[in-house]
Amino acid sequence: MPKPRKLRHIPKELLILRYLNIRMMLLDQDRKNLYNAEKGLEGEVKFDQLTEQLQSEGIVINGLLLKLDNHFFQIDTVIIFQKTIYLFDVKNYEGDYQFEAKQLRHIKTGKIIKDPFIQLQRCETMFRQLLQELGYNFNVEAFLVYINPMFTMYQAPLNPSVIFPSQVDRLMQQLNKVPSTLNGGHEKLADLLISLDLGDYPYTEQPKYEYNQLKKGVIHPCCYGFMETVNYMRLRCHTCGYEESVESAVLRSVEEFKILFPDRKITTPAIHEWCKVVKSKRTIRRILQKYYHPCGKGRYCYYE
Ligand SMILES: [Zn+2]
Repeated sequence: MPKPRKLRHIPKELLILRYLNIRMMLLDQDRKNLYNAEKGLEGEVKFDQLTEQLQSEGIVINGLLLKLDNHFFQIDTVIIFQKTIYLFDVKNYEGDYQFEAKQLRHIKTGKIIKDPFIQLQRCETMFRQLLQELGYNFNVEAFLVYINPMFTMYQAPLNPSVIFPSQVDRLMQQLNKVPSTLNGGHEKLADLLISLDLGDYPYTEQPKYEYNQLKKGVIHPCCYGFMETVNYMRLRCHTCGYEESVESAVLRSVEEFKILFPDRKITTPAIHEWCKVVKSKRTIRRILQKYYHPCGKGRYCYYE
């Protein structure tokens, strides 16, 4: 199968938690939310790696947040084949659970999770309705995929739409055998769905943080270490030794600043303070001028 039509979007909510976790002490609940979000994303990425290897002719769309009549619904993976559209919800739960009416109970901790299959059915219904409104007529099949090999569910009801870790390989084999020849219409539908993707939920509860609370500096996103100065052109990660140009480090830090502080203006002094390890304000100004659009003049100049 060709490259996915849409790469997986990392939710803004997760990015904010990731950044804050490096720059301040998170509250317990926020740390739990971060852990769960990372875990969920890890499962989705694992599923992406499997769909990338499919040989049949289909269009893979990784992650859609859609809206129908003011209700949001999210689909982890959509695969468009000639006659059928498959929807997948991927769960990366780990440990032993017992199935009870409409919920899963973690056997050791007693923690309750709402049965994700109910959510999936709702998504499936809304997706069908959306297709109909867009004037398309496809079969739609939805699957719930428990992808973590360390997951077990006792007393699970017999449900061919729920795929357990030991059944994932077989699911892939089945998808490999779907007879399918695509045409321009399928491509158009894929583009249409992607154009409807909202990316992030507009209203999510955010952790509380203030600029002054946060540790300043440039973060190396692979190991979450802070970068230090090598010379005026290069920075090095204090934790892993990775080196990069000041330019790419500053650009990344500006994007992080924008996500954390959407209401603050991007100015040379603001980014100079935010990056901390880049000594020269002139270097910061040069990079901002090169990659962003300046608004205003002199000391009131900011960038967009
Ligand atoms: Zn590093």
